[in-house]
Parts: sequence; structure tokens; C-alpha cells
Amino acid sequence: MKLNITIKQFIYYALIIITTTIIIAVIASKEYKNHYLAELASDLHKQAKILTNDIPSLLIKSKFPQLDSFISLIAKENNVRITVISKTGKVIADSDQDEQFMEDHSTRPEFIQALKFGYGKQIRYSKTTRQNMLYVAIPIVNNNEHIAVVRVSTYLSRINQHIVRVYKKIFISAVILSALALLLAFLTSRSLTQPLQTLTKIAERIKNGEFQTRIVSNRQDEIGRLTAVINSMAESLNNLFDKIDSEREEIKSILSLMIEGLVVIDDKDKIVLANDNFKIIVNALSNNIIDKYYWQVINSPQFSDFIKTVKTSGVIVNKEIEINNRTYLVNGNYASKIEKTIITLHEITEKKKLEKIKSDFIANVSHELKTPLTSIKGFAETLEESASKKYRQFAQAIRRNADRLINIVHDLLVLSDLERPESKLETESINLKEMLDNIQKVFIKQIKQKKIKVNIEIDDTAQIVNGDPFLIEQLFNNLIDNAIKYNIEKGKINIKAIKIDNNIQITIEDTGIGIAQEHLDRIFERFYVVDKSRSRKLGGTGLGLAIVKHIVLSHNGEIKVESEVGKGTRFIITLPQ
Ligand code: ADP
Repeated sequence: MKLNITIKQFIYYALIIITTTIIIAVIASKEYKNHYLAELASDLHKQAKILTNDIPSLLIKSKFPQLDSFISLIAKENNVRITVISKTGKVIADSDQDEQFMEDHSTRPEFIQALKFGYGKQIRYSKTTRQNMLYVAIPIVNNNEHIAVVRVSTYLSRINQHIVRVYKKIFISAVILSALALLLAFLTSRSLTQPLQTLTKIAERIKNGEFQTRIVSNRQDEIGRLTAVINSMAESLNNLFDKIDSEREEIKSILSLMIEGLVVIDDKDKIVLANDNFKIIVNALSNNIIDKYYWQVINSPQFSDFIKTVKTSGVIVNKEIEINNRTYLVNGNYASKIEKTIITLHEITEKKKLEKIKSDFIANVSHELKTPLTSIKGFAETLEESASKKYRQFAQAIRRNADRLINIVHDLLVLSDLERPESKLETESINLKEMLDNIQKVFIKQIKQKKIKVNIEIDDTAQIVNGDPFLIEQLFNNLIDNAIKYNIEKGKINIKAIKIDNNIQITIEDTGIGIAQEHLDRIFERFYVVDKSRSRKLGGTGLGLAIVKHIVLSHNGEIKVESEVGKGTRFIITLPQ
């Protein structure tokens, strides 16, 4: 049962008051009774003492009838019963009964005590009077000798009436006192609990968001202090919520001003936040998309796959995704602390269009250049053979430059081919060892010229990799070509392949000139070369690594480079098996 705090408090008080009153009343009644009996016994004792003055003379002279009437008179006057008992226990005289018919009193405790200690007292049921009686007995002494015992007694029924009257008074006083105390207890508990109840009600209103609510109290005690604390708490909450509200407004306006579309998705795939730009992207500006599943809003398998990748990868993921015929660079990050995926969408449709125009242009130009360059090269070769020594070097220069241009055109065509969205990978199982051995044969002349030692180590588990054989070969061609080109005389090239999880990791390591740290980030850019004259001299185009990176990415792989100037370079490629 749920009791109100006032009633609870009152019940505690009431229990204490009632038990205390009962205990006090009982103790007081008992004490009073004992005290009254002691007083009575002392009275009877006094009377008995007085009697011991007159009785001996009558006893000695054996004036029993006089003794009887004497004690009867005294007994009547004092409203007591007087008995004179001989030393042996025989009743000599009794104020109320005929002693002739009274039994022997030698075993009565008050009689025995009187003879033994000079005073005897007992409360007992009297067979003679058939009532409860208080007996007080003392010895009658003559010439220092006990000659009899005088016993003064009184009926307890009379006393009981008196005691009951007193009890009644005690009871009535106890009831009145308890009632007063209970009233006081009720008022005290109410004065303590009523403000608490008011405080509770107001605290509940504050809890429900009514932060303007304040409690008025002039009390200076603990409740007054609690009131002040609750008021200042409400004030702080009010300020805090005002601050949160204004911050939320700020964030809202920042989000709506963002050029990017922003959407936050929870672990149940439901949208928890989206800015206006996101709604524009998904054609849902006027709809409420909060709490909807993201796939109800963006119907794109590419986007769903992207969300899954973001959630599992634990890193920032970027991908170009087409939504409603427009291209977006989508950036996703999973915030594990709040268990939410944060996605931004940046439109790159125009950029993509321009890129396409550019790459189409490059492809077309390269294509157009290919045939004339080949014939220039052919004519230069013919010239080289037939020209005089003087002109042969011009013909050689023409051929060398034509070669370089042919290389560039070739690389540009490969790149633009890779960039074509419609270009597909022709994947099949590739035997790495076989492919690398064949490539090594292609470069055998250069290897021998530079006296380079090539070491190929393929783990048993890494023999086969899935990929487009033409592209993968192109990839190794470029990397091995670089490893030879930028190596030193008598240098080494180590090629290793191992299996890690479901990926094949291929390392191509050389002991060449190395690449300075500041260039490492840029060497995969098109036409980026560290040393232009050296690259040109070695027949480089600056496109090799751009092609390599493209091929790796088109196979969903990764490429990393580590290098130290003067020591060598290591390319690490990871391809899904
Ligand atoms: P290039 O045709 O000039 O070799 P790449 O794209 O293949 O162009 O390489 C870009 C640049 O990276 C090179 O010019 C060279 O400076 C540097 N590079 C590539 N591979 C190596 C390597 N194995 N050792 C040292 N430098 C390298």
C-alpha cells in the first residue's frame, strides 16, 4: 500500500505516543497501587503498635471477653479487623469472627514473620472472611518476651474500589494527553510533509519542462534551503535548455547552409538527421524523412553497399555514387560512440562531365597522334639507316623523340581506357609466378646491362590471383621497369607475394636511388616525375605510376609506397584474391 508521507509520519508518531502512554499509565497504576498498599500497611502497623500498649495487661490477666470487646471497638472505629493470636498460633480474640471457630494460625506467613522478624505482612485470600485481605502482624512483648501476636488487617475490596477510581483517572488523563499529543504529531508531520509535497509537485513540473516554475517559501530551515536549491536548479536547467536550443538552431542553420547534402543514419538504418540539401538530392524537400529507413528514401544498391562498407570498415570511406542521374562524391564515416553513420554528398556531376570531355579529348588526340607518330618513327628509322653520319644523329634524335611521344600516347590511351566508366575488367585466374617470369624475360636485356639480381618468391597460398591479365601485366611491367630504371648497377630487385586473410600482398622492392619523402604523396599523379631530366633520359613518361594506381583501384586493391633516398623503394600492392 502506498501511504502518503504525512500519514506515514503520523502513524509513526501515533505508535510511539500510544505505546509510551500505555507504558506510563501501566507503570503509574502499578506504582500507585504499591504505594497505596505500602501506606495502608504502614497505617495498619501504626494501629497494631498502639494496640500493643493495651493488649498485654488484658492478656496477662486473661481478660478475654474484655480483650474481645476492646479490639472490636478499635476495629470498628478504624474500619479494620483485629486478631490476637497466641504464641502457639491459637486465635485468642478476633474483632470480626468468633475465635472459637477459627482454625490454628501458626502457619500464617504474617504470623511467622512477626515472631521471627518483629514484622509480618501479606496479602491473601481469607477463608474466614472469604475476601482478599492485607494483613500486618507484630509481636506483643512482655518482659522482653513474645507473649502473642496482634494482627491488623483490612479488606482489599474497599481498596480496590479506590484503586479502580484512580486507574480510571489515570486512563482518562492518558487518553486526553494522547489525543493532544496525536493532534500535535499530526500538525507537526503535516507542517513538515506538506511543503515536501508541494516541492515534489513543483519538481515534477520542472521535470516536465516547465522551467519557469518557481517555489515561494520564506522558511529559513532545511526545507527553505531545499526550496532555494530547487529554484536555482530550475534556473540552471532553463539556461541550459536555452543554450541547447540556441545551439540546435545554430547547427540547424549551419546544416541548411551547407552545400553538401548531409544525412545521419542510426544502427537500425533509420534516418535521424538530414539537411535540406540532402532532401533536395533525394527529391524529398517537402517530406518528413526522419525515422524512415534510408533505403526508402534513396533507392540505390550502390548507396546501400556504401553504407555497409562504411559501417564495417571503421575508417572514412569515399565513393562516387549516382543518385537520380546525378553524380555525387559520397563521404561516409561511422561514429561508433553514438552508433551512427554520418554521410555527406557533394555533387560532382559538372566536374565529371568536364573530366569526361577532357579525357575524351586526350583519348581522341592520342588516337589521332598514334598513326602519324608511328610513321614518323618509321621514316626516322629508314633515314637513320641511309643518312650520312652527319644527318644520322638528327634522324636518331627524331626517332628517340618519336619513341617518347609514342610511349606517352600509349600510356595516355591506356589511362583513358581505364577511366572509361563503361570499361570492364576481364577477370580470370592469373598464375603470378608465370606472369612475373615472362615479364622478367621481357626486361632481360636491361637487367643484364645493369647486372641486377632479381629474386622472385611466391608463397604457395599466393600463387593465384584474380584479375584482368592484360592490366595486371601492365601493372608489373611499369613497376619492374621503374625498379630497373631507378636502380643502381649490381642492384637487387625482390618480388614477394604472400596471402593475408583473403588478400594477396605483392611487394616489389629495389635497392635503387629511392624517392624523397616530400615526393612520395605525389608520384601517382599523372606526369609527376621527381627528376625531369633523369626521367626523360630513361624514357619515362610520368604516367606509369598513375596507370599502376588506376589498375590497382579498378581491382578494388590498395597500393602503398615506402622509400628511402639512396637505399631503395618498396611498392606494396594488396589485391583481393
Ligand atoms: P616515369 O615514367 O617517369 O618513371 P612513373 O609514373 O613511373 O613515371 O614514376 C613517377 C616518378 O616516380 C618517376 O619519375 C621517379 O622519379 C619516381 N619513381 C618511380 N618508381 C621509382 C623507383 N622504383 N625508384 C625510384 N624512383 C621511382
